[in-house]
Amino acid sequence: MQLDLRPILHVPGAAVPFSFQLDLAGLNFYGVRPFQMPVEVSGQVRNRADALVLAGEAAAVLDLRCDRCLRPFRREQRTTVECLLAETLEDEENDDIVLLDHGAVDLDEVFTTALVLDMESTHLCAEDCKGLCARCGADLNQGPCRCKPEVDPRLAALAQLLDTHSE
Ligand SMILES: [Zn+2]
Ligand SMILES: [Zn+2]
Repeated sequence: MQLDLRPILHVPGAAVPFSFQLDLAGLNFYGVRPFQMPVEVSGQVRNRADALVLAGEAAAVLDLRCDRCLRPFRREQRTTVECLLAETLEDEENDDIVLLDHGAVDLDEVFTTALVLDMESTHLCAEDCKGLCARCGADLNQGPCRCKPEVDPRLAALAQLLDTHSE
């Protein structure tokens, strides 16, 4: 969404609110597409003593897959954005400032960037997810699998010895 800021460019104290849905269903993040639900974006741009300040929030429901047990799960993510907007850059070094294009700001770009930077690189369905059994692949969150626990080879030898004696 392009937000036209020309009406408030030179009007200190004036503000333009915004509220829209951002469709990022096609966005690929490390092989998954987490934004299957539209992202709710809202906020405003205010002219503060001739500086344009954007303040807003994106609320997303992420469709993720647990890195440990591979189960799909959903999680909410709220990303806040606060930045300055300007028509021209006076200081080339300052890349915190978002440039306007013909007096408008590209909100899709601003919020897409913020959402992606805010994503965690690992996803767990729960902090204490037990993951999958390395031998049979069973989901250990559902309970123990049928794999026998690794037996100490010395105990195994002893058990065999006792077995022979009892025969
Ligand atoms: Zn998990
Ligand atoms: Zn197992």
